[in-house]
Amino acid sequence: MELEGKKVLVVGVARSGVAASRLLIARGAKVTANDRKAESQLEREAEQLRALGVMLSFGGHPEAMFTGADLIVLSPGVPANIAPLEAARRAGVEIISEVELAARFMRGRLIAITGSNGKTTTTALTGELMRAAGAHVIVGGNIGAALTGLVEETTDDSWTVAELSSFQLETIERLRANVAVITNITPDHLDRYPSLEDYARAKHHIFLNQTDSDWAVLNGCDRGINDMIAALGVPSQKVYFSSRGCDSLSNDPAGIYARDGRIFTTMLTDDGSYTEVLSLDEMPLPGMHNVENVMAALAAAFCAFSARESDMKISFLLPALREAVRRFKGVEHRIEFVAEIDGVRFYNDSKATNVDSTVKALEAFERNVILILGGTDKGSDYTTLAPLIRERVKHIVLIGAASDKIAGQLEGVQKMRRADSMEDAVFESKAEAVAGDTVLLSPACASFDMFDNYEHRGRVFKEVVTGIFEQSRAESASRQAE
Ligand code: ADP
Repeated sequence: MELEGKKVLVVGVARSGVAASRLLIARGAKVTANDRKAESQLEREAEQLRALGVMLSFGGHPEAMFTGADLIVLSPGVPANIAPLEAARRAGVEIISEVELAARFMRGRLIAITGSNGKTTTTALTGELMRAAGAHVIVGGNIGAALTGLVEETTDDSWTVAELSSFQLETIERLRANVAVITNITPDHLDRYPSLEDYARAKHHIFLNQTDSDWAVLNGCDRGINDMIAALGVPSQKVYFSSRGCDSLSNDPAGIYARDGRIFTTMLTDDGSYTEVLSLDEMPLPGMHNVENVMAALAAAFCAFSARESDMKISFLLPALREAVRRFKGVEHRIEFVAEIDGVRFYNDSKATNVDSTVKALEAFERNVILILGGTDKGSDYTTLAPLIRERVKHIVLIGAASDKIAGQLEGVQKMRRADSMEDAVFESKAEAVAGDTVLLSPACASFDMFDNYEHRGRVFKEVVTGIFEQSRAESASRQAE
C-alpha cells in the first residue's frame, strides 16, 4: 500500500487513532486526525499527535474533510455509518479500519482471537504459550497496544496474537489469520446488531481470506458457533475444543477436550488417539470458563506449530506449554486473586460488568462467598443470579447507583448490606467473613457511577485489600516481636 504524499484522515482520536497516525506519518502520509469530542477532552492524545506532525480537527466531523481525503482510517469506536462517512463513500474515498491498515503492513503470521467472552484471557495465554515454545511473539489488538502500533515489531518469522472485537472484524478486507479462534458467541452487543445472526456474521469475518492450509479453533459446545458454521461454513481446517468430554467432537474428531478433571487432545497424533495434556488441578485459573480458555489457547498453539513443525516437535514442546499454563495467573481484573487475610481469600473480578460474567465468577466458587455487587445498572435482570446466590453466597454487599434495584430484585434471596464506598464495602465484607470464606468483587454492573472505568474500580478494591493485608501483617509481626 503506497501512502507517500497521500491525504489520510484518521477518524477517532484514542489509542488506535494515535497508533494509526504514527504508522501513516512514518510511511510519508499527510495525516489529519479528527474526533467529535473537544480538544479539552483529548489533551494527551492531541499533544502526541501534534508532536508527530499530524493536523488536528476536533469538535465535529466536517464533511468536506471526509470527501476530500484520499483514504480514511477508522478507529474501532467510530460507527461506520455516520453521515460524513456515507458521503465519503459516495465520493469514492477508500475507508478502512485501523486493524485493516495494520494487516496491510504486518509481516509474519497471525493468530486472531474473537468471541463474546474470554477473548482477553485466551489472547494473553496464547501469547504466553507461544513464547514458552520459543516463538517470536507480539500480543495486541483490543488488548494492550493497537495493532498498527505493533507493525514495526513484526518480522517474517514472528507470530502476532491479536484480540479482535466484532467491531474490528466487521471492516477487514485483507487481514488473514493463519489461526482463527472463536471462544463463544452469546447475545452481546445486540444494541449494535439487529440480530444474533448479524452479530455472528461479523464474528465470521475472522475467517475471511483463510484457505484450507489455515486453522479455525472453535468451541464445540457453543450453540451460537455451531449455528454460525451450519449457516456460513468455514474455509479452513476445523479444530474443536469441548468442556463436555469428547462427545461433541464425534463428527469431527480433531480437537481438545476436558473429561474427568483432565484435558486431552487428539491433535498430537496422526491416528486420532488421544494424549493427556494437563490435569485441571494444575491450572491456577478458577472456573470451567477458564478451562475453555485454556483449551482454546492450547489448540491455537498446537495449530500454529503444526503449521510449521512436525507432530514430533509439538509433543516435544508439550512440557513447556504445560508449564506456561501452570504459571499463567490470568489477566488483571478477571477473577484475579488479590490476597489472603486471616484465611479469607479476596478476588477482584471488576471486569464483570454484566450479569453473565458474575454468573461465571460465582460458578467458579463452590460456597461461602461474600459478594460485592452493584454500580451503574445497564438495564440488567439481577434475578438470574438468585439460584447461584442461594447456593454459594453467604452475604451480599451492595455498592453504587444500582443498589436499590438489585436490593428489590434479590429481596429475600440472601442477607444484604449497603456500603457507601469501595473501602466501606471491603471492610463490611471482611467483617462478615471467617477463615475459609471468599470475598469476591464481581459487580454485574458498569463502574461509571463511582469510578473512571472498571480498571479504576478494580485498582481501588485491590488498594483497600492490600492496605488491610499489610496492616494485618504488621500487627502479627509486632505480636511476634512481643
Ligand atoms: P473479553 O476480553 O472477551 O471480555 P475476558 O477474558 O476479559 O473476556 O473475560 C471477561 C469476563 O468474561 C470474565 O471475568 C468471565 O466472567 C467471563 N469469561 C471469560 N472467559 C469466558 C468464557 N470462555 N466463557 C464465558 N465467559 C467467560
